[in-house]
Amino acid sequence: MKVDADFVIANANELVTLRGTSDKPRVKDEMNDLHMIRDGAVAAKDGRIVAVGKTREVLDKLEKGYEVIDASGKLVTPGLIDPHVHLVFAGSREEELEDMAVRGIPYLEIKAKGGGMPTTLEKTGEASTEELLKRTTQILDMMLIHGTTTIEAKSGYEMTFQGEIRQMEIIKTLNETHPIDLVPTFMAQGIPFEYENKVDQLTDEIVKKWVPEVAKRKLAEYCDVFCEKGYFNVEQSRRILETGRKYGMKPRIHADWLAHSGGAKLGAELGVVSADHLIFTPLEEIEALTKKGVIGTFLPTTPFCYLGTYAKAREIINRKLPVALATDLSAADMCESMQMMMNIAVLQMKMTTEEALTASTINAAHAIERSMEIGSLENGKKADIVVFDAPNHKYLSYHYGINLAEKVFKNGKLVAERGRRID
Ligand SMILES: [Zn+2]
Repeated sequence: MKVDADFVIANANELVTLRGTSDKPRVKDEMNDLHMIRDGAVAAKDGRIVAVGKTREVLDKLEKGYEVIDASGKLVTPGLIDPHVHLVFAGSREEELEDMAVRGIPYLEIKAKGGGMPTTLEKTGEASTEELLKRTTQILDMMLIHGTTTIEAKSGYEMTFQGEIRQMEIIKTLNETHPIDLVPTFMAQGIPFEYENKVDQLTDEIVKKWVPEVAKRKLAEYCDVFCEKGYFNVEQSRRILETGRKYGMKPRIHADWLAHSGGAKLGAELGVVSADHLIFTPLEEIEALTKKGVIGTFLPTTPFCYLGTYAKAREIINRKLPVALATDLSAADMCESMQMMMNIAVLQMKMTTEEALTASTINAAHAIERSMEIGSLENGKKADIVVFDAPNHKYLSYHYGINLAEKVFKNGKLVAERGRRID
């Protein structure tokens, strides 16, 4: 029986399918197997993939009347997924970045002098909802034109009761209005100036008032916490994540970003969905995460910009922790491009291009528990597809610093082409 299709992307020099691991993430050597088809095609109908294979086989299967998008000489992949984004904020911190990157001033010193995250909390709190919606839409557009079709979006840049509810409402609105799918996370992130030495009190308010209200309004799927010196300690983090879980929000954690702070250990103990950063995590704690089925998400931006120390990708992958990549886009890390994350992963963290692609697609889908819907090119999944102006997947690491995403499809609709949004 023939299959109906709206369109087919055909003749791809390489069609990276990443099929076969929707039920569990790829680990170790599996991360190098892209399940690639040469001269491949993918067809879609009503926003879903209906056929994947060699171009000739796919075209033979289809009922006439479909549109053909020629991808001769190109690379075609699943839509990229960014599973760690601090989405909603106002202002910018470019002066600080130069202080850290060029003059080597540590972040905590900048914060102690009245800079850093608390300044973003203030600016965001002062911004109108319209301003925040406009700014955030620009960020999402930039992600989309670079090939990202789904993100996880965290609150955490106001850190007041009303402010955090507002952040979650903005994420909800954008999920309804923007082509990118947003997976919402309530996050206890920064410590406002007035709570600098009263983090226990802030934690009390979060667990007694904020989390229950976010849950009541059904605004978040996950609860996340910044478990780090100068932020929330292990006990405060535990209280927040356990409360979140009690109210139906699954836990994720920022762990061991600036130091070995106990976040990964707590993540393993609680069985978080994803433990992120893992820069200073001892390997025995990585093994504990592996045992608990946690995903490790690498965020290469701060190491690239100023920390200099990356998560030990090779050792961590060797210990069979499934690994995802994300931008960690925030007021401190302004990069929307998952292509750039793959570049850093390969050129600085010594991951292979195949591992980086796996970490940005199917494993990233697992990190937000969307692997049955996205992350690979397989029948029944969302037609989230990127056509790259690249002859093969390794070219993504070779030609860097530019946007290689030529066409971006979301739910079977062309939403970006050659760096421009299409409505
Ligand atoms: Zn983060």
